[in-house]
Amino acid sequence: LKLPLPLAVFVIVGGGIAGVTCVEQLSSQIPSSEVALITAGPHIKAVTNYKQVSRTLEEFDVEEKPSSVLEEKYPNLTFIQSGVKALNTQSHFVETTDGRVFGYEKLCICSGGRPKLLTQDNPYVLGIRDTDSAQEFQKRLCKAKRIVVVGNGGIALELVYEVEGCEVIWAVKDKAIGNTFFDAGAAQFLIPSLEADKPEKTAPCKRPRYTTEEPAPGASQTFTAEPGSALGPDWHEGIVLRGAEQVRQCVHLLTYAPCTLHFCSGNISPLFQNDIFLVFFFPSSEGSWPVYVQLTNGKTFGCDFVVSATGVVPNTEPFLHGNNFALADDGGLQVNDQMMTSVPDVYAAGDVCTACWDHSPLWQQMRLWTQARQMGWYAGRCMAAHVLSEQIELDFCFELFSHITRFFNYKVVLLGKFNGQGLGPDHELLVRCTKGQEYVKVVLSDGRMVGAVLIGETDLEETFENLILNRMDLTPYGEDLLNPDIDIEDYFD
Ligand SMILES: Cc1cc2nc3c(=O)[nH]c(=O)nc-3n(C[C@H](O)[C@H](O)[C@H](O)COP(=O)(O)OP(=O)(O)OC[C@H]3O[C@@H](n4cnc5c(N)ncnc54)[C@H](O)[C@@H]3O)c2cc1C
Repeated sequence: LKLPLPLAVFVIVGGGIAGVTCVEQLSSQIPSSEVALITAGPHIKAVTNYKQVSRTLEEFDVEEKPSSVLEEKYPNLTFIQSGVKALNTQSHFVETTDGRVFGYEKLCICSGGRPKLLTQDNPYVLGIRDTDSAQEFQKRLCKAKRIVVVGNGGIALELVYEVEGCEVIWAVKDKAIGNTFFDAGAAQFLIPSLEADKPEKTAPCKRPRYTTEEPAPGASQTFTAEPGSALGPDWHEGIVLRGAEQVRQCVHLLTYAPCTLHFCSGNISPLFQNDIFLVFFFPSSEGSWPVYVQLTNGKTFGCDFVVSATGVVPNTEPFLHGNNFALADDGGLQVNDQMMTSVPDVYAAGDVCTACWDHSPLWQQMRLWTQARQMGWYAGRCMAAHVLSEQIELDFCFELFSHITRFFNYKVVLLGKFNGQGLGPDHELLVRCTKGQEYVKVVLSDGRMVGAVLIGETDLEETFENLILNRMDLTPYGEDLLNPDIDIEDYFD
């Protein structure tokens, strides 16, 4: 390799929320330093309408924008549209797929994750991750009469709610739906929404790119060639998720069917060997459906295709070869409380990393949009502080887990150990539920509130956040804490 290389003080890989927020932080904190953003596609993800709802809760939209938006805003930024294919941490450079090499002083890897598929290379199995896979899904859905959705996380929840005009078989390995986000009680509260009429959508279409039309002549095609950014909470806005049937919606929920995994043909993905789905793929000639799926409960379903919505694996491959990164059990790059990996001068943020510092008892990592933004922002601050030889303390946003989202058209707020994560049997739950209106659950440990699930327009998020952060002993209030006749906000103000 011939030196000198084009050198930036800061190189960030990945134009998703984590990478872009990191770039923005660095560019505004040290406007004189050279920053380079290397990302696989021509678009970046930008945070818009950011709103700090309370001390830790935040809400924002994410919009896909051309990279020029960033370059115009930050004159110190160089945008490089190419994938990174190799990293040499000894000599401090990255090599891109188009053969260019860039040196760095500090590098931040924000390459996100890719879908954990039930099986690779099966044309009947689709994952949803980025704009292209969502578009492919839409294309196939409009001709489909029945699909099988496998998975129980946020994507599966949204899918089964949004899809219309197509029968949906929803296979869930757990006893209740949505167990990543809430318990069986909340699941029971939400299930009737699957059958109810959906309200008209008022949200603006933020992604006019989702369409079955061919791109305009001359439009850039490169986006499809490289892995794109993960979609976010409103990924289905602007896409018509309609199948080939006239029926509005028909979802069959199949829960908890333990067994081992078998495939009639194709390879068993090791990721699923310990899981409890049983999925057989038969050749299409054997029946009238293109593919048949057999679940652990012994039932077989024909369908047009299977959506594998079973989580993501961190996108680490191009960075590992020849380097000595410590990886977490989930495959993420381990980072410490300064967002530094185990390799000097290499940081990581967002879905690609695993937070390996001593977590606050009220926080846990979840690969979500909010955390991608917080980590990218904090990584930028750490990188800037380190080149200026300054110290920095773990940011307050990692003190309390907090997340606002929507499921089945209800506002959902999750705080702290909202599902009693890691608390063992020594915790108490208080629940208040009004069918079709709200579901409020509080997790108490040692008389103190350590978590909450708020579904519906409860208006309790700020009060509960304060109660959790203040570690106040709530024993004297007992069940009155959720008494609807007591205005709890005024009470604690
Ligand atoms: C369908 C869907 C729905 C979701 N719903 C929600 C939700 O409701 N709420 C929520 O909070 N979160 C949700 N998420 C999760 C959320 O979108 C992710 O946690 C978040 O976007 C991760 O951001 P990131 O910047 O770490 O990674 P990404 O957004 O995945 O960005 C990674 C970037 O790295 C680039 N890249 C990858 N490899 C390379 C390489 N080798 N070289 C160069 N560039 C590379 C990619 O092109 C991309 O720009 C959802 C995800 C999906 C897929």
